[in-house]
Amino acid sequence: MPKLNENYLDLQESYLFSEIAHRVAEYTRENPDKKVIRLGIGDVTKPLAPLAIKALHEGVDAMATAETFKGYGPERGYDFLRDAIKDYYGRRGVEIDADEVFVSDGAKSDTGNITELFANDNVILVPDPVYPVYVDTNIMMGKKLVYMDGNAENDFLPMPDKSVHADVIYICSPNNPTGACYSKAQLKEWVDYALANDAVILFDAAYEAFVTDPDNLARSIFEIEGAKKCAIEFCSLSKTAGFTGTRCGYTIVPKDLKFMSSRGVEMSLNAMWNRRQSTKFNSTSYIIQHGAAAVFTEEGMAQCMENIHYYQENARIIADMLGKKGIRYYGGINSPYIWFECPNGMESWDFFDYLLKNAQVVGTPGAGFGKNGKNFFRLTAFGSRENTIEAMERFDQLF
Ligand SMILES: *Cc1c(COP(=O)(O)O)cnc(C)c1O
Repeated sequence: MPKLNENYLDLQESYLFSEIAHRVAEYTRENPDKKVIRLGIGDVTKPLAPLAIKALHEGVDAMATAETFKGYGPERGYDFLRDAIKDYYGRRGVEIDADEVFVSDGAKSDTGNITELFANDNVILVPDPVYPVYVDTNIMMGKKLVYMDGNAENDFLPMPDKSVHADVIYICSPNNPTGACYSKAQLKEWVDYALANDAVILFDAAYEAFVTDPDNLARSIFEIEGAKKCAIEFCSLSKTAGFTGTRCGYTIVPKDLKFMSSRGVEMSLNAMWNRRQSTKFNSTSYIIQHGAAAVFTEEGMAQCMENIHYYQENARIIADMLGKKGIRYYGGINSPYIWFECPNGMESWDFFDYLLKNAQVVGTPGAGFGKNGKNFFRLTAFGSRENTIEAMERFDQLF
């Protein structure tokens, strides 16, 4: 009999989205004439930018002739895409080396797999509320997590507790689920803390393209002095360019990230990640990488930003209504997510039912993201303009 990885027994049942689907299906079965508006799921709805579509077609055509056909590509991604990503950072004043860029099929895989590079006896800090991938992938490996509370007192932006030592720190900014975004000054505190503790920050920048105030808010952890000595950055074309179904992401592992092992040899995280990816991963397809490279051109990015602006306007419409109703909210300005406390002290699943029954609007109960989400609720700006407006008109009448 195989002895199984019993760490899986320690995972909490992930019923958030299946439970939402179940409750909505039940409601629509009983109320077939009611129009339900879904502002719950964190998935984009706008089609890909025309330049990305054109480049994807070219990628397919390249496969059709022996001269241009591509078989296995470099495990860390084609040079043309890593150079395009380096230029994308360069245009924002962040110097990275193409050798520090690793292309992948998305940030979920990378944020989940990176934990393999760290031993099990680290102190690993994760925020609560949290993107569940960080938590579950560590539990699968038998690792212990220390939670840092995000709450109304700290505007859902937990800051380092200098009296506590950490080795690995997860930060997602702009945040999913809370929409909160760290300022450069706050991230500087995190970088200083990491350097003082010899720790690594795992920075998830999946929503960087939503940042509206790049003077004060960081789109990349590498805008912060010292970060190249203490941080890995994950990013993705999913929210930036609508690639949730197309699949392409990238991770930046600075070559300066080196730590002494217990055997007295220095280990490079860049070399380790390269070894890990070339052993277990064969990169994302040439076709997708060719499409992704078009996204990072100035014209491609301008097209993607049109979609982002559309979502940002939806977020503003939601935020304005909450503001009008005197409901304190987080996010919505530098993020497609709006996070707010459920009215009248309601718990998030009760509020979910209340909103579904009385306004036919579906959101995401905060309880699904950790204990600090118990009384909070997430709405997303990824719906259509018409549905967003209609949902907010229903809010206007209900509250
Ligand atoms: C959507 C999202 C990602 C991106 O995941 P992909 O696998 O690239 O689609 C990463 N991190 C967070 C927090 C997200 O919400």
